Amino acid sequence: MQKIKNYINGELVEPISKSYLDNVNPSTGEVYSQIPDSDKEDVEIAVQSAKAAFKSWSETSITDRAKVMNRIADLIDKNHEKLAMAESVDNGKPLKLAKKVDIPRAAANMRFYATGIEHFASESHQPNTEYINYTTRTPIGVAGCISPWNLPLYLFTWKIAPAIAAGNTVVAKPSEITPMTAFLFSELCIEAGLPAGVLNIVHGLGAKAGQAIIEHKDVPVISFTGGTSTGKSIAATAAPMFKKLSLELGGKNPNVIFADCDFDKAVKTSVTSSFANQGQICLCGSRIMVERSIYEKFVSAFVKEVKNLKVADPLTDEAKVGAVVSEPHMNKVMSYIELAKKEGGEVLIGGSRINVDGRCENGYFIAPTVITNLSHDCRTNQEEIFGPVVTIMPFDTEEEVIEFANSTAYGLAATIWTENLKRAHRVAHNIKSGIIWVNCWLVRDLRTPFGGMKQSGVGREGGWEALRFFTEPKNICIALK
Ligand code: NAD
Repeated sequence: MQKIKNYINGELVEPISKSYLDNVNPSTGEVYSQIPDSDKEDVEIAVQSAKAAFKSWSETSITDRAKVMNRIADLIDKNHEKLAMAESVDNGKPLKLAKKVDIPRAAANMRFYATGIEHFASESHQPNTEYINYTTRTPIGVAGCISPWNLPLYLFTWKIAPAIAAGNTVVAKPSEITPMTAFLFSELCIEAGLPAGVLNIVHGLGAKAGQAIIEHKDVPVISFTGGTSTGKSIAATAAPMFKKLSLELGGKNPNVIFADCDFDKAVKTSVTSSFANQGQICLCGSRIMVERSIYEKFVSAFVKEVKNLKVADPLTDEAKVGAVVSEPHMNKVMSYIELAKKEGGEVLIGGSRINVDGRCENGYFIAPTVITNLSHDCRTNQEEIFGPVVTIMPFDTEEEVIEFANSTAYGLAATIWTENLKRAHRVAHNIKSGIIWVNCWLVRDLRTPFGGMKQSGVGREGGWEALRFFTEPKNICIALK
């Protein structure tokens, strides 16, 4: 059985304890590889290796940093099929989706920040003829990058790329639930000639390996994507140590449909925004709010469209929906469907596990589920489910739907459907979330700020935001006379 290795100081190594964890294929329920169960000692070596590499990497010209990052991007492209297959097997997502979205985006992340760093600039301010200020932006040191399981290589590289482009060295930990593409990525970094110690990848559990990274005194900057409760605990550890923190956390995103929308487009896109990646994208719209005059029409068109979503073996072409990521996660999602029923919800379609015959008969498949008849403030509509479950509720006025949209503890993303330009701007302005899409969904321009308000996070990634995050500004004031 394949054993994944840690990537420390340019080499693939076993965990010091020689302990491993099982890695399960969620489409079959079978253990198919082993992951290092790394602990403090492995993290210590990784941090020391990153520290040792920092001086030379931070002094490497930006052009040379960009060159090696571009080589890594080219290798991701070259290994597109292999990486996509690994992502689908590890995560349960349709292979087609991994090919189209996850792997191309990982290459794009590396290229985006390889070129971005060559255009990044700092400022100069001159108040009069006597003084001039200039601001430098220098790399900080060893960055800790921790990512979740839903978009494994996509989110892992989204953190690593700006961190190393800016001249930091990194100790990174992918999710223990989906470690395979991070391992394959470490092989590509070696092949591309990334200097030893610039990136170190430690595999293992969050509470053990992850916590050791967060607690380490020589890791002054941390970029974390994951659940809100994990984010809270990370902040509690890191804040008294005065670490720089970027937290990209959970969401409960509203999808607001006004009666004057482009109906067919709103229905089709809302089905995608509800169930893409089995609903396991932090940006999925999980609460659909529909203006009452088109509510019935929308619900029936939506359910009709959901019937066409084929749940199948993720490696087949017909699969529109694959397996959810793990058995515990499947149980969590199913428990929310039960909760929704207890709260008076009506399940219009789905609501149960699905048996996919053949090699996937023991896999973790859930039918895309649509629930109505729930109030905006019940637990089902307040807590993050993060699975193929969506609720639909009617609203009467613009004020009311803004109140519904803003009623959760989260504020990550929102989608608004209307052909009324003024209303689009007004509602976008009044919804408290970091990302708003009007008449579209998940259109990503990597230059834009990405992140959430309220309990969806602290700070922003993307574009210059990430390069600012991974650098320390210093203002130098010079007397000219
Ligand atoms: P999680 O919080 O359980 O784990 C995320 C990562 O943190 C994993 O690598 C895990 O091992 C690690 N971890 C866990 N405890 C830790 C600790 N004490 N110290 C350090 N590291 C620790 O999240 P998950 O279940 O993997 O991912 C799903 C969550 O991620 C959802 O809530 C989803 O909304 C969120 N998410 C947010 C975004 C965003 O950009 N805002 C993107 C994707 C996913």
